[in-house]
Amino acid sequence: MRYYDWKTELVRVMLPLAAAAVLSTAFELGAWPVFVVAAGICTWLLWQLQRLSDWLYRGSGTEPPEAIGMWGQIFDTIYDMQKQATGDHDRLQAMIDYLRASFASMSDAVVMLDHQGNIEWCNDAASELLGLRREDDTGLQLLNLIRAPSFVGYYEAEKYGAPLEMASPVNADIQLSISISFFAERNRLLFARDITRTYRLEKMRKDFVANVSHELRTPLTVINGYLETFAEHGGENPRWDRAIEQMLKQSRRMHHLIQDLMLLSRLESVPKPKEQDRIVLRPLLEMVREEALAAAKGDRSIEIECDDSIVLKGQATEIRSALSNLAVNAARYTAEGDRIVLRWYQTDSHAVLEVQDSGIGIEPQYIPRLTERFYRVDQSRSLDTGGTGLGLAIVKHVLLRHRGELRVRSHPGNGSTFSCLFPKSLATKAESAA
Ligand code: ADP
Repeated sequence: MRYYDWKTELVRVMLPLAAAAVLSTAFELGAWPVFVVAAGICTWLLWQLQRLSDWLYRGSGTEPPEAIGMWGQIFDTIYDMQKQATGDHDRLQAMIDYLRASFASMSDAVVMLDHQGNIEWCNDAASELLGLRREDDTGLQLLNLIRAPSFVGYYEAEKYGAPLEMASPVNADIQLSISISFFAERNRLLFARDITRTYRLEKMRKDFVANVSHELRTPLTVINGYLETFAEHGGENPRWDRAIEQMLKQSRRMHHLIQDLMLLSRLESVPKPKEQDRIVLRPLLEMVREEALAAAKGDRSIEIECDDSIVLKGQATEIRSALSNLAVNAARYTAEGDRIVLRWYQTDSHAVLEVQDSGIGIEPQYIPRLTERFYRVDQSRSLDTGGTGLGLAIVKHVLLRHRGELRVRSHPGNGSTFSCLFPKSLATKAESAA
């Protein structure tokens, strides 16, 4: 296609004007011929503009008007751009249709929300799992349709790192795992997955552990009682005495194991009580210090560093149990003469309950797995110390129930620091304590 530039158009305008000027001079007609030609050129230009405007007004898809020179070029270029844009649009639409078709066929609920939280689109599973109707609910605020407090809290907090588990708003027997992510500007994509089966299996597992622990406790208490009586009245046969001593030791271990399993089951299944205790830390640290001293084989220096100006809001028995596990661990994994510090303080971001020891420490590669049930860095040594392998799992669950987290820093051979980081909102001034 030939390319016209402004010089060609200039020639096209100037030629008739020059001819008019020559005509005026030759026949002494004054400025009239030039004026008439200039008026003609202006009219022609305006007519071209009118055609362009009419064509654009008719919308894309119609053929452009025929025109010469630069005007033809403008019409053709706009026409090509329109065709290109229509092609792009069709391709994008096809892609959106394809994605929607695949989302629509999913068994998980999918809901697309605009930046104001209005429903833009949802699939059929969203009606089954969340009670949303694509035709009627499109354009409505999602929070007006799903009003479960746990969902509203999760949605508004905008911390979508972990999914929310909740009962379906349409059928309480269906358990859902809901995850939300942002896309585009502030639009949101919500997925809801039916996890009823996994939830039931998990519940069965928890119930099983809780029931087995409970059922084992009574016979074990009887066995323990008899063994203690035998141990008290022993002395006749040293071989039997040794055997009874071993049996007593193992049955006590089992007793601790069952206690820990039952505590873990309770922490997992019993809902968090609404009422919070105001825990004054110094007496608690002192009590735990005594426990740790009793658990230690040999001398330990156990110091307390406590910020008495703040108290912790939480469940006193649970916090005590977590702290006691950390302190007893510190006593177990240190040697005679080592130092242990129990601390309570606050930083700019957290309230911290901490147990530091100068004991054997832990290799960095083991640290991420410490809170797994029955995970032990050194099987033989842990059994030797009488641990159950559940202590740090209990600490983790207690912290989860207090919106806290466990941070472990350790240097093999130089000791470890286990810090329970609580949100600052759980620490209040001691004066306001009841
Ligand atoms: P256990 O009853 O075996 O102590 P825990 O869950 O309390 O079980 O701890 C898990 C593992 O973490 C322990 O087996 C031990 O290897 C390691 N550990 C816990 N606390 C300490 C510590 N203060 N120093 C060194 N190792 C520790």
